[in-house]
Amino acid sequence: MTNEELWQTVLAQIQLVISPANFATWFKQTAIVSQKDGEMIVSVPNSFSREWLKNKYHKLITKIINDQDNRIKEIKYTIGSVVQTTPEKKTNPAVPTTEQLDFQELKIDKETNLNPRYLFDNFVVGSFNELAHAAATAVAKNPGETYNPLFIYGGVGLGKTHLLQAVGNEVSRNSDRNSDKKSIKYLPAERFVSEIVGAIRNHQIESLKTKLQKTDILILDDVQFLAGKEKTQEEFFHLFNALYEKNKQIILSSDRPPKAIASLAERLRSRFEGGLIADISFPDLETRMAILKTKAVEKNIEFNDEIINYVAASIQKNIRELEGALNRLSTHQKISGQPLTLEIAKELLGSLVAGPPKISSPKKIVQVVSDFYDLREKEVFGITRKKEVVKPRQIIMFLLREELKYSFPAIGRMFQGKDHTTAIHAFKKIKKGVGENEDLAEEISLIKRKLYGL
Ligand code: ADP
Ligand code: MG
Repeated sequence: MTNEELWQTVLAQIQLVISPANFATWFKQTAIVSQKDGEMIVSVPNSFSREWLKNKYHKLITKIINDQDNRIKEIKYTIGSVVQTTPEKKTNPAVPTTEQLDFQELKIDKETNLNPRYLFDNFVVGSFNELAHAAATAVAKNPGETYNPLFIYGGVGLGKTHLLQAVGNEVSRNSDRNSDKKSIKYLPAERFVSEIVGAIRNHQIESLKTKLQKTDILILDDVQFLAGKEKTQEEFFHLFNALYEKNKQIILSSDRPPKAIASLAERLRSRFEGGLIADISFPDLETRMAILKTKAVEKNIEFNDEIINYVAASIQKNIRELEGALNRLSTHQKISGQPLTLEIAKELLGSLVAGPPKISSPKKIVQVVSDFYDLREKEVFGITRKKEVVKPRQIIMFLLREELKYSFPAIGRMFQGKDHTTAIHAFKKIKKGVGENEDLAEEISLIKRKLYGL
């Protein structure tokens, strides 16, 4: 493995356990510059980053590197990309040496896959997630008896994973307390898919099935990833039935309601719809402020209300981004040792705070719509008149017109050189459909959210 490959592997793993904001702040522009006799030198852009990596991330970096190559005994950080073989002079750290960051993510329970950080106690409830929260607490109290399955859906970064895992952690805590051990399993659907595929390949599918059928609580996160994975869907259908018949709790999440998941077997869709479906929408300003305040207390840091207000007003659609902003501010405040002013906060968050909405591109529209309906782009541009293809094709035409103001003749030409009447027909059909058909309206709104990265 070259230094570059090794560092890419390390970065990929770090990315899994720290927030995107921290990752961007501390690991951009880093590289391995040399490696000799068990000593590795990592270059960083400035002294600030060097101190921060040394003081906060050294333990994590060392662990990951050693998993890759246990011959590396020492890791040093240097500024710039100059190869430095002589040991650096010890400088006074700009940052007081504090404890290494506590990587909760490394404490993920190996058996359940639950992260102990996700609790009901630190989950803020507002009208946007009230139903989902109430259902989740009810399920945690009486698993298998109230809503089965519980299906929670909503956009990215709005607390689905947190809520799902909070149920798991709560049941686990109760079962410890009552010495009534429950088997709990949290699985992102992508991982479920790869476990099933791997087990089939290694002829271990029976033992995997037996193992999964023993769970009392099965939590499958982001089930939209099952779309188009027929074999996995089939296995999941049987697992679902086996658990359901034994009154075992099944909890699912997705970025969209079951009816909007393309290429999902009908029998599985109807299972998903058989329990309670609760959505999570967007938090209002007050709730966003409450979330920021809660997180600030957790991090043991204080900001004045003006700053909290600014952050809450600027980031509206994603709680993970709210957290990212808070991390950036708290890092700065801790390092500078002085309370932040609004001006500095604005400067620090410049790139996180959304400017005017990004303009989409035709390519992006085709990609997002095809992806949403689980089609290949080739099919979309092909000649088939199959219903599953015609509707997405018309939606693309509609969006090209509505979002990018393309002319009807130009749109027609993109699709097998059709003339403008085809494009006009598609546009009118979808436009009318949105007004009359709630499902279609919701699908278009989900697609638009993806289009603009909301
Ligand atoms: P999703 O799974 O919907 O993409 P996550 O559950 O990963 O979102 O949430 C993103 C981040 O926001 C997590 O760090 C989570 O702890 C935090 N978060 C989300 N909702 C809440 C909430 N209601 N209260 C407190 N923190 C929240
Ligand atoms: Mg999630």
